[in-house]
Amino acid sequence: MTENAEFKSWMCLICGYIYDEAAGSPDEGIALGTRWEDIPIDWTCPECDARKDDFEMVDHICPVDFEVTWL
Ligand SMILES: [Zn+2]
Repeated sequence: MTENAEFKSWMCLICGYIYDEAAGSPDEGIALGTRWEDIPIDWTCPECDARKDDFEMVDHICPVDFEVTWL
């Protein structure tokens, strides 16, 4: 069972635009939480018109990863 698969981020290798599955791309008609595989194949990067093939998965950039140990 993989009921809680984390949302991933995908980065455009051409311009560095990052698509975050959790955030979606409302301006492009992509709803919040839309998985990368569910995005239409003809969708292109809003910044540079690159195709999905030009995107690469990136690790989630999250400040929670920092272990703050102030005492
Ligand atoms: Zn781009």
